[in-house]
Amino acid sequence: MSRMRELVDILNKYAYQYYVLDNPTVSDKEYDVLYDELVRLEKETGEVLFDSPTKRVGGELISAFKKHDHIERLYSLDKATSVEEIMAFDKRINKGAEELEYTVEYKFDGLTICLTYDEGKFVCASTRGNGVTGEDVTAQVLTIKSFPLIIDYKGKIEVQGEAIMRLSVLEEYNKTALEPLKNARNAVAGAIRNLDPKVTEKRRVEIMFYNVNYMDDNVLKSQTESVQFLRDNGFKVHPFLRVCKGINAVMSAINDIENDRKTLDILTDGAVVKVNDFSLRSILGATDKFPRWAIAYKFEAEEVTTILNKVIWQVGRTGKLTPLGLLEPTFLAGATVKKATLNNMGDIVRKGVKEGARVLVRRSNEVIPEILGTTEIFEHCKDVVAPTVCPDCNTPVIENGANLFCPNVHCRSRVIAKLTNFASKNGFDIEGFSEMTAGVLFDNFGVEKFADLFNLDREKLLQLEGFKDAKTDNLLNAINNSKNVEFSNFIFSLGIGNIGKKTAKDLAKEFKSIDSLISADKEKLVSMGDIGEITADCIVEFFKNEQNLMEINALFDAGVTIKQMETSKGGVFAGEKVVLTGTLSQFKRDEAAKIIENLGGEIMSSVSKNTTLVLAGESAGSKLQKALNLGIKIIDEETFKSLINT
Ligand code: NAD
Repeated sequence: MSRMRELVDILNKYAYQYYVLDNPTVSDKEYDVLYDELVRLEKETGEVLFDSPTKRVGGELISAFKKHDHIERLYSLDKATSVEEIMAFDKRINKGAEELEYTVEYKFDGLTICLTYDEGKFVCASTRGNGVTGEDVTAQVLTIKSFPLIIDYKGKIEVQGEAIMRLSVLEEYNKTALEPLKNARNAVAGAIRNLDPKVTEKRRVEIMFYNVNYMDDNVLKSQTESVQFLRDNGFKVHPFLRVCKGINAVMSAINDIENDRKTLDILTDGAVVKVNDFSLRSILGATDKFPRWAIAYKFEAEEVTTILNKVIWQVGRTGKLTPLGLLEPTFLAGATVKKATLNNMGDIVRKGVKEGARVLVRRSNEVIPEILGTTEIFEHCKDVVAPTVCPDCNTPVIENGANLFCPNVHCRSRVIAKLTNFASKNGFDIEGFSEMTAGVLFDNFGVEKFADLFNLDREKLLQLEGFKDAKTDNLLNAINNSKNVEFSNFIFSLGIGNIGKKTAKDLAKEFKSIDSLISADKEKLVSMGDIGEITADCIVEFFKNEQNLMEINALFDAGVTIKQMETSKGGVFAGEKVVLTGTLSQFKRDEAAKIIENLGGEIMSSVSKNTTLVLAGESAGSKLQKALNLGIKIIDEETFKSLINT
């Protein structure tokens, strides 16, 4: 009982921070673990404390908002995190021999919004609140442009949807925000539960509708009919709605969502499985907290909190110092995480990051995890101090924009990063060349320049510890074999600031020879469309530098040659500059890009006036909007398929 009391108190505190303040201090996963423990104890003891969160839907209402009583109660959803739990859900409700029909939808990670209409006119908008009473957020919701104010249905009706902020919108917003928003869920909750509707407007919220919560003369018989009704009345409905016969088909739909969700512009934390047939729903009914006919399958959380032990500064090939957080190791989305990135000192200050503090860490896709913000500060925490000298060579650092740089081109860390980048897959692709190799060559022979790699002395290498005949020959052969290089790889290998694989490719295509790239001015570079002003400056500066030009010439003197570029192939996409956006159902994005390139097209990462074609899959977001605004030709997946088959 005492543990139950403890859990109820702590969960109520977390729920208050999450629902009322929209400022969670623990990750959802940590909350869910404690919640599940409480549910277990309540089952074991048969006791439920008076203020247990298991009895309640959502959180307190903010008193500054007017209250709104929902016509029908709004529920939360029971949750499952494993296949077994989904199977058990099916077993619980399906007593017959026939397989049940379910619908599977995205579980949008946003804020429930309930809209009331009467006589075909919009009346008010409210949050879910405790399920019976919500907060009236009409003024805030009215700043959202994408829901109808007048609908065909003329009776009284309440519809429910999820207010969301697209990830691309969040990213754009954070670029200039004084205080970056932690994630799309908090961003949207904070946008709507905010007394100033201007804040809502700025965050460009959308609502995805999925439920008719009440209607006067309910003629709807199923989830599929409801969704069609919502669509017919002008509500935005996400195109993903899978009707599944039997629980195995449900699991396969969930798998599809899990695979696709990383490429979506919308934050989803799971899938919602619902019994399609309303007559069966009414037999099944609801518990205090959730309907028995639906369950949310929650994906493994990608956020966790942990202690930040220390911040170290790494020196990159351009001399830029990047802070890296060393974390108390923690398990997150299938891997142990020990390090997480921060951008620069400004980022550290904005996020209130201190050594010893508890921080919120997110891991998305394969990239190195990122520190999103600070959730708890302790007395022993220490401020992160910006270095005044390079942590490697002690040279005083210089400030350039938001970043600090080590200006010493002979700095060991800089040289190692530069040589490793030069030899990497997207550069000269020298097999077996690692950071360690670069370090050994620098320490023993003072190898700093690219061309030094092509003038290594076999006899001297053999004298190094660990360099036996075979190893030495492998290295020398690999270096020698790399001499005839693709133009885009050559550009990448130079290590120009801001130039990754994609931009190197674009530059190679545009300029065709190193001489014309060297003489390109900023205007010409920016006019390519995919290159911004800062990157253009980096390129121009790089080629203005005598030392860099000498290094390039030395490479040619050492026998390096650039492969002749293939002239662009003919094909249906010849001459097209194509942007891919949204999710394709039958192609992976890379696959589609390859097909387009093979058929003569060029892939661009963002929509600009130079774009000639946009291939838009499901849930296409801001890129599609921009293409529409610019009047660029847009094709869907079906058209794409027919084009490539002609
Ligand atoms: P929930 O968000 O897990 O699920 C229910 C909600 O899902 C619905 O109310 C609806 O808003 C939403 N939803 C999204 N797509 C939907 C769809 N297609 N159909 C139907 N509904 C859809 O439940 P909840 O009660 O709002 O929140 C509980 C969860 O909140 C916990 O499991 C926990 O992860 C999190 N939480 C976290 C903290 C914290 O401190 N980090 C505190 C409290 C709660």
